[in-house]
Amino acid sequence: MSEDTHLEALRGEVRAWLDANAPKTWREDYKAMNHAEFADAQRTWFRTLVEGGYAAPHWPAGLALGSGRSLAEQKVIYEEMARADTPRLLLSFVSTYHAASTFLECGTEEQKARYLPAILQGETWCQGFSEPNAGSDLASLKCKAERQTRDGREVYVVNGQKVWSTMAQYADKCLLLVRTSSEGVKQAGITFLLMDMKAKGVTVRPIEQIQGDEEFCEMFLDEVEIPVTDRVGAENAGWAVSQATLSSERGLTLMELTYKMRGALARIAELIRKNGLEEDRGVLRDYGQLVTRCDEACAIADQFLQNRIDGIERVGDASVVKNTYSRVLREYSLLGTRLGGIDEQYRAPIVYGDLTTGNWMADFMNSYAWTIAGGSEEVQRNILSERMLEMPREPKNWVL
Ligand SMILES: Cc1cc2nc3c(=O)[nH]c(=O)nc-3n(C[C@H](O)[C@H](O)[C@H](O)COP(=O)(O)OP(=O)(O)OC[C@H]3O[C@@H](n4cnc5c(N)ncnc54)[C@H](O)[C@@H]3O)c2cc1C
Repeated sequence: MSEDTHLEALRGEVRAWLDANAPKTWREDYKAMNHAEFADAQRTWFRTLVEGGYAAPHWPAGLALGSGRSLAEQKVIYEEMARADTPRLLLSFVSTYHAASTFLECGTEEQKARYLPAILQGETWCQGFSEPNAGSDLASLKCKAERQTRDGREVYVVNGQKVWSTMAQYADKCLLLVRTSSEGVKQAGITFLLMDMKAKGVTVRPIEQIQGDEEFCEMFLDEVEIPVTDRVGAENAGWAVSQATLSSERGLTLMELTYKMRGALARIAELIRKNGLEEDRGVLRDYGQLVTRCDEACAIADQFLQNRIDGIERVGDASVVKNTYSRVLREYSLLGTRLGGIDEQYRAPIVYGDLTTGNWMADFMNSYAWTIAGGSEEVQRNILSERMLEMPREPKNWVL
């Protein structure tokens, strides 16, 4: 069977499976849910995907049902998910991408055997990297871990604060970056630990966002004991491990979102019709521009993926994909907000759910999160200017 025939067969298979199994009324259902019910609905959809073999197509073969998909196959699966308008998997995103790439690239065989199957059984991870004064400049983190022997056990005792941890209130485990040394450059004293969220001394406080969601949390860690065996990589070598975690964050995972945004253009067309604006040249011009921008974002995501399929990986490419997506998402939700007018502002926001819900004000406010999450837009531009365009590096020690 040729590659094309194989991919078309897969497309038919995925489409049929989604027709039979994807939640159809989730946009309506999510609106009536509180946050905890949302988490349950996400767990159910994740379990269904696991059973179908589509929960972790990006994992290598042998680890899970339906895994070991090539990049071209993953693309087909993402395209079909976008076409079927499936709910975004916010709750298990860190588990299947960030945690999994950390274990696959840097974990011991024991850690892989223990944690990867557990993820597919529903164990949920969050990411405790950022701190109040360590986001873009992550290496300045201060959350401190001291190695001690307590009751005959070798443990790290952790004290400090983390912030912006997505879905930490529902997580079982946390990918935690801590400072174990202040010697040498700041990247050199960081260690990567796996924290049990039920451990004594862990306090999680959800942060209420402007649109009513509680997508992320603060975490306060007070004398939290983490067994030394729950360390990934060597002590003080956590910076390199964190790069493996973060490498999964940009680029490929944005592809599904980009396709979904293009699919969601129908919501704007619906608004135009509903408001009788089909003849308004200004509105049609703005809509036309947005369609082009969405196509551009998809083309860039496609090219990124094709490069990866061809084995071309350049520093900065993922930043282009992320910045394009987050910019166009903002333009998309802004046009919707404008066309929706006052009436549309009264609709209750959908909990978390998606970035293109059609609840325009909520979507617009949410779109700003994407210019920050996973590395801010400005910092991505620094990466592009310094590493892709080879412009001079920004001066050290500058003050805002
Ligand atoms: C929706 C969302 C989910 C998140 N989820 C998680 C999570 O699960 N786990 C986690 O650990 N973190 C998470 N984060 C945190 C995220 O990684 C940080 O917010 C991000 O890295 C920016 O850091 P900061 O908020 O400290 O901003 P700062 O670094 O303080 O930046 C403030 C402003 O200054 C600009 N700036 C900073 N440095 C430079 C520079 N060198 N040049 C030019 N401009 C600069 C920034 O671009 C920004 O506009 C999440 C954030 C969001 C919005």
